[in-house]
Amino acid sequence: MEILVKPCGEFYTNCYIVDRKIIIDPGIGAYEFVREHVDKPLAIINTHGHFDHMWDDKTIKEMYDIPVYIHKNDAFMLENDPFGYNPPKVKPDYLLEEGDIKIGDYDIKIRHFPGHTPGSITIETGDEMFSGDFIFDGSIGRVDFPYSSAEDMKKSIEKFLKIPYDKRVLPGHGPATTIKKAQKFLPTWLEYL
Ligand SMILES: [Zn+2]
Ligand SMILES: [Zn+2]
Repeated sequence: MEILVKPCGEFYTNCYIVDRKIIIDPGIGAYEFVREHVDKPLAIINTHGHFDHMWDDKTIKEMYDIPVYIHKNDAFMLENDPFGYNPPKVKPDYLLEEGDIKIGDYDIKIRHFPGHTPGSITIETGDEMFSGDFIFDGSIGRVDFPYSSAEDMKKSIEKFLKIPYDKRVLPGHGPATTIKKAQKFLPTWLEYL
């Protein structure tokens, strides 16, 4: 599996491209990175609805005529701009829930980890897990934004600690980690929530 990554915009939000087919979190200006590397993509998936992760959804959706996926609890962020940053609004095509989906030949597991936002998810395919702003290398996503919940984050971390296997974890900002490494540092964060 080929993973391309480019940090986009002032928050260095990682846009990932899987096998030149699946685009994850196209932030501000990501369309240029996508246009450079991608010919016939299948879909855009957002790990959550924050503006720096979805800014170029609309541009790329229209460029290739492909669907946008997001968890149902964050869909309103794409359509309504609840934070007032005025990103290009887009209507998602598929509303995700926890479970397994198929996009083209890709088997994708969606896990729901609310806390940073109500509809934060991880996206697993092959040996990779895209974790958005739920888990970073050594830390966790902020829970002091509107629609965030520290209580939910606590439960999400406890749920993550039970994942029995290892995979690489590719976060929404910063470098990669792994499920096993994250399971080692996460208990400390529970104390701060
Ligand atoms: Zn976020
Ligand atoms: Zn972010």
